[in-house]
Amino acid sequence: MSAPAPEKRTLKRLAFSRPMVGPDKCVFCQIASRRSPSNIVYEDDKYICFLDIYPFSRGHTLVCPKEHGETIWDMKEQDISELFQVAFKVSKAVVAAVGADGFRFVQNNGEAANQVVAHVHVHVIPVKMEDKGRYTDRKLFTPQEMEETARSIRSELASLDDEH
Ligand SMILES: [Zn+2]
Repeated sequence: MSAPAPEKRTLKRLAFSRPMVGPDKCVFCQIASRRSPSNIVYEDDKYICFLDIYPFSRGHTLVCPKEHGETIWDMKEQDISELFQVAFKVSKAVVAAVGADGFRFVQNNGEAANQVVAHVHVHVIPVKMEDKGRYTDRKLFTPQEMEETARSIRSELASLDDEH
């Protein structure tokens, strides 16, 4: 008698209850394809980075693969490392642009983990020393302030490129 084949386990799908699921309804896919406006700070063939419209601090940026996937579990390993390489580069520009003293990478997966948009993304959140250890509320900036912040980040990214 041969041993029974090991049971194939199916990876649990992370839960979203909201209706904004699927590429057609996804706000980040709309931003990536320029159907919705955003303050873009970086873009290449595979990734797009833009300001969070309701940021925790000035310069709070989202780093997204253009290809739709709900969570990091939907990504290929190689793409995950590229995503964080882009986030790494963007973090330097964000910190320089807003004069921060530190930054957070936050990467939420599933609605239970406070992932609001079901399209995988990394938050780059600059933090100043005066906010050390403090929970800061989300803020609203004027469209002019947002554009000015995005412009400073783009210009810092351009000068990072010049160093290489
Ligand atoms: Zn999407």
